This record gives sequence, structure tokens and C-alpha cells, in this order.
Amino acid sequence: MEQPFPTPRVAVYPGSFDPVTKGHMDIIQRASRQFDKLIVAVLNNLSKKPLFTVEERKELLAASTSHLPNVEIDSFRDLLVNYMDYKQAHVIVRGIRSVTDFEYELQLASTNHKLNSEVETIFMMTNPKYSYLSSSVVKEIACFNGDVSDLVPSEVEQALIAKYQKPQG
Ligand code: ADP
Repeated sequence: MEQPFPTPRVAVYPGSFDPVTKGHMDIIQRASRQFDKLIVAVLNNLSKKPLFTVEERKELLAASTSHLPNVEIDSFRDLLVNYMDYKQAHVIVRGIRSVTDFEYELQLASTNHKLNSEVETIFMMTNPKYSYLSSSVVKEIACFNGDVSDLVPSEVEQALIAKYQKPQG
């Protein structure tokens, strides 16, 4: 049956974003052009020990994407397919940098497909400029006072400086 109005095309880009890098930003910018709405969703993963809290990661994402009107920042602590259902989203966006990413991402996408075959995962290839870039690399450089200005949005650079200036427990 034909629908009177087209359904908005909503995609979710889930991840840890601890913190958001220019590699993530490149994917966010490109994906936001392909959908009516892109929800960047921070996974509240209790098993990982993050540098930034979920709230901090959301704030940094919000500040870095404020120029993109169809990008929403959120967090979730649930199965991704349940969260997608709740948000009425049908597409998962993930980025791929390498063969290692591909193997992990294939397993993840297949699992999500098994849980809900309506959900589609779309992969975006990294911008070659950022193919080596990860949040872990950024944290390692920042922790030794290295220059991360080419690797992260300026808000994140400031937040990293502030974080590492504080005495570590
Ligand atoms: P996760 O813990 O879910 O892997 P990340 O924040 O590390 O969370 O990554 C989220 C997504 O962004 C993943 O699909 C990852 O492959 C992708 N990604 C991370 N860095 C880059 C990059 N430099 N270029 C393209 N995609 C990237």
C-alpha cells in the first residue's frame, strides 16, 4: 500500500566516541548528507573504562556538529536494534578503516541482522586522510602532551588538555 507521505529516512551512527575524532567527523558529515536525520548515539558500555563520561562525549559531539542541522546527539544503554526501534530508524552507519575493522564490523552487522532483519547496516569507507586515526591513538598522543590539533575538533583538543592537566588518580 502506498503511504501518503514518505517516511523520513533516519540513520543511527553508534559508537564509543571517546572522544570524537576528525575521522568520526568525516563520516558524520558525509552520512548526514544521505539521510533526513542522522542520530549519533554514544554507547553507554559498562564494560569499557572510558576517558570521558557519556555526558562529556555527548557535549563534545554536540559542539562539533552544531553546524549540521539534521544531526542529533544521543546515548543509549540497550541492544542497538531495540534502540533503533525506539527511534524508528532503519539504517545503521559504521565506518571502515581496514581489513581488521571489516572483520569486526561484518560480525556486528550480521548479529544485528539476525536480531532484526529490517535493520540495514551501511558502511562508509574512511577518508584515506584519517585511515590511521582512532580515539585510542588520540588519547595516547594527548596523554604525553603531543599535538592533536589535526586529529580532533578544537573543542575536543581543549577537553583533552584539561583532562590530562588534572592529576591522574
Ligand atoms: P566502537 O567502540 O563502536 O568501535 P568507535 O568510536 O571507536 O566506537 O568507532 C565508531 C565507528 O566509527 C566504527 O564504525 C569505527 O570503525 C568508525 N571509525 C572510527 N574512526 C574512524 C576513522 N578514522 N575513519 C572512519 N571510520 C572510523
